[in-house]
Amino acid sequence: MADALLGPAEIRELAARLGVAPTKKLGQNFLHDPNTIRRIVAAAGLRPDDVALEVGPGLGSLTLGLVGVVRHVHAVEIDAKLAAALPDTVPSAHLTVHPADALRLRAADLDPAPTMLVANLPYNVAVPVVLHLLAELPALRGGLVMVQKEVADRLTAGPGSKVYGVPSVKLAWYAEAKPAGKVPPAVFWPVPNVDSGLVAFTRRDPPADLDRAAVFAVVDAAFAQRRKTLRAALAGWAGGPDRAEQVLRAAGVSPQARGEALTVGEFAAIAAAAKLSGP
Ligand code: SAM
Repeated sequence: MADALLGPAEIRELAARLGVAPTKKLGQNFLHDPNTIRRIVAAAGLRPDDVALEVGPGLGSLTLGLVGVVRHVHAVEIDAKLAAALPDTVPSAHLTVHPADALRLRAADLDPAPTMLVANLPYNVAVPVVLHLLAELPALRGGLVMVQKEVADRLTAGPGSKVYGVPSVKLAWYAEAKPAGKVPPAVFWPVPNVDSGLVAFTRRDPPADLDRAAVFAVVDAAFAQRRKTLRAALAGWAGGPDRAEQVLRAAGVSPQARGEALTVGEFAAIAAAAKLSGP
């Protein structure tokens, strides 16, 4: 970690010097609290041989907290002005800046391969970014991300919770996720009107040896009509309610259950049963 982290005065000064006016569209709320940076870096559980991937380095607050702690840092920033300024703020031979959209990143773009995602994510694309990176970067062993508190609750929810839904199940396909604390709006500039939450996740083997897209299609269908029983909610996906019932029974899942009660393993069992019983 660099000795000097950016506080409120440094963030304002840097933004003024670069002519940066934060935009809502890109989720630009910059951290200006060194204690929060230290907290994020500590909660990430980084090893010295890790390669960190930071999505949205912005003015470099968290990047300064990461360099020196890990072997290498990849910083991926969509805002060309911020990407161009980063090497001045964070001068390090162990930093690669990528002026790019994280949603379009491919494993081949990142050498050495990232092992940990550590990021204060742009809130409007946080879930797609996390899912895209877990799908695309096989060496990623886990991560610590800051997202809107409500999204953190969704990502870490389990079956039966009111906020359990598509993001919870899809993240559970790749990883075990748990909440790692709440962050107040006051540590950002500009101050957002929502609380933020930290989510720690550790990759695990997928729950089934199945095509991920086939399982995700069941998840999407089940939650598209989350108040309906699975028999009804999966009718369109299965080709009729009777066929949905047949597949659910073959998977050992009650046709009267709702998607919000199912584990990712049970969604996988439904996809497997559908595959076995043919079109
Ligand atoms: N990490 C910095 C911090 O904590 O102060 C900034 C975090 S700010 C919440 C999100 C950052 O993500 C912004 O710098 C924004 O320009 C960038 N960003 C937004 N969408 C992006 C995308 N699709 N790919 C890469 N960066 C993106």
